[in-house]
Amino acid sequence: MPTTETTSVPANQVGTATDDTAFFGHPRGLSTLFFTEMWERFSYYGMRALLILFMTAPVAAGGLGFEARDAGVIYATYTAFVYLLSLPGGWIADKFLGLRRSVFIGGVIIMFGHISLALPGIATFYLGLVLVVLGTGLLKPNISALVGQLYLPDDARRDAGFSIYYMGINLGAFIAPLVCGTLAQAEWFKAFLMNLGIDPKGSWHWGFGAAAVGMFLGLVQFVLTGKFLGNAGAPPAPNPDAEEARKAKRQLILGIGAVVGILGLVAILGATNAVEINADNISFVIGVAYVIVTVGYFGALFAQEWTPVERNRLIVIVVLFVCAAVFWSAFEQAGSSLNLFADRYTNNTLFGMAFPSSYFQSLNSLFVISLAPVFAWLWVWLSQRSLEPSSPVKFAIGLLGVGLGFVILVPPAFTIIGAPEGFRVSPMWLVMVYLIHTIAELCLSPVGLSTVTKLAPERVVGQMMGVWFLGASVGNFAGGQIASLFETFPLPWLFLSVFATAGLASLVLFLLVRPIRNLMGGIK
Ligand code: GLN
Repeated sequence: MPTTETTSVPANQVGTATDDTAFFGHPRGLSTLFFTEMWERFSYYGMRALLILFMTAPVAAGGLGFEARDAGVIYATYTAFVYLLSLPGGWIADKFLGLRRSVFIGGVIIMFGHISLALPGIATFYLGLVLVVLGTGLLKPNISALVGQLYLPDDARRDAGFSIYYMGINLGAFIAPLVCGTLAQAEWFKAFLMNLGIDPKGSWHWGFGAAAVGMFLGLVQFVLTGKFLGNAGAPPAPNPDAEEARKAKRQLILGIGAVVGILGLVAILGATNAVEINADNISFVIGVAYVIVTVGYFGALFAQEWTPVERNRLIVIVVLFVCAAVFWSAFEQAGSSLNLFADRYTNNTLFGMAFPSSYFQSLNSLFVISLAPVFAWLWVWLSQRSLEPSSPVKFAIGLLGVGLGFVILVPPAFTIIGAPEGFRVSPMWLVMVYLIHTIAELCLSPVGLSTVTKLAPERVVGQMMGVWFLGASVGNFAGGQIASLFETFPLPWLFLSVFATAGLASLVLFLLVRPIRNLMGGIK
C-alpha cells in the first residue's frame, strides 16, 4: 500500500516514506514520474523522428521543402534549446513554482506546442517549436529532480530508481517513432485518409497530433496519480527576505522580456530580410552565445553564498557538466551522422528483407529497455558487496564507451572509401555501436541525474538539474556541428577524432577520480 508518511524525515526532502516499496521495490511516486516522463518523451521523440524529414520533404509531399543544411541547423538549434531552457526552467521551479507545478505547466505548454505543429502552416510550425522548447525547459529538469526527492540522501536505491525512471524515458522513445512515424509516412494510412476525403499530404500533421495526444495522456496520468508523490516538489516556502524575493521577481520579468525581445527581433530581421539569416550565421551566433551563457552562468553561480562543502560539491557538478557535454556531443550523433551512415552506407536488410534506415533509431531505446534492469540490479548487487564504482568512475567508463563505439565504425568507414557506387556495409556494425553506446549511456546518464540530485543543495536542486541539461544542450549543439562535416571530412578520421576527444576526457577523469571524490564530501 502506498504511504505518504514523512514524519521521520525533513518535510521538504522526500515525498514518500523510505520504506515504501510499492513500485518494483521503489516508492509508489516513482510510477507517477515514470509514466509522466514516458509520455513526455513519447511526444518529444515522436515529433523529433519526423522533424527533419518533414522540413526537407518537398512541398508537394506536404513538407516544408527546406534545404538539408538549413533543416539541419534548425534541428540542431531546436534540440540544443530544448535542453538549454532547463536552466531557466529549474530556476523558476526553485524560486516560484516548485517542481510539481513546473512539471504540470511545462506539460501543458508542450501539449500546445504539438497541437500547433499539428496545424499546417509555417507560423504554426515555428510557434510549435518554440512552445515545445519552453515547455520542455520547465518539465524535463524538474521531473528529474522530483525523482531524486523520493529518496533520502543515503538511500541505496536512488541510482536504481533513476535506472527504472530511465526505462520509462526509453519506453516512450521506443514506441513513439513507430506510432508517429506510421501516421506520418505509412502508405496505408495515407490511403485511409484519402478514403475519408482528407488530403493525405497532411499526414505529417497527424504524426505531430499523436505527439500531442501522448503528452495529454501523460498530464492526465500525472494529475490522477499525483497523490503518490506525497509532499515532494511542493512550491518553495515564501522567501523571508523581501528584498531577495523582489529581486527574483525582477529577474523573472527581465528574463521573459529578453526572450520575447530576442524572438521578436529575429522575427523582424527574418521577415524584412534586413539581415541574411542563414545556417552559418545562426551557428556562429549560437556558438558564441553558448560560451557567454555557460561562463556567465557558472560565474553567477559561484558568486552566490555557499558553505565550503556546498562549494566543493558545486565544483564536482561543473566537472560532471563538462563530461556530460563531451559525452552527448558523441552520443547524440545517433540522430545525425550515425543516421546518415545508416541511410547511405549500410545494407539495411534483415534475413533478406529490406527495412527503413530510420529503424536504427529505435535500437538505442530497445537496448536501454533490455539492459536498464540489469544495470539497476548490478549497482545494488555491487553496492551490497561494497564494490560499486563511484560516480566519477562510472562517468569515465561511459566516456570511454561512447568513444569506443565510434572506433567500431572506423574499419567499415575505411572500406567505403574508394568502394564502387552502392557498396554498403553490414548492419551489424551499427548494431554493435548502438549496443556499446547504450552500455556507456547507462553508466553515465541515469548516474549523472542521480548524482546531481545528491550533490545539489536542496534549495537549488532544480537549477543544478538545469546545469546537467545544459551539458546535454552543449553536446547536442556540438554533435550537430560535427555531423555537419559528414560530407566534407573523411569519415574514418571524423569518427577517430570523436573517439580521441571522448577517450581523452575519460582518461583525464580517471586520473581525477581521487580529488573529485574528496570534493564530493562523502557522497558516492
Ligand atoms: N535519452 C535521454 C532522454 O531523453 C537523455 C537525453 C539527454 O539528456 N541528452 O532523457
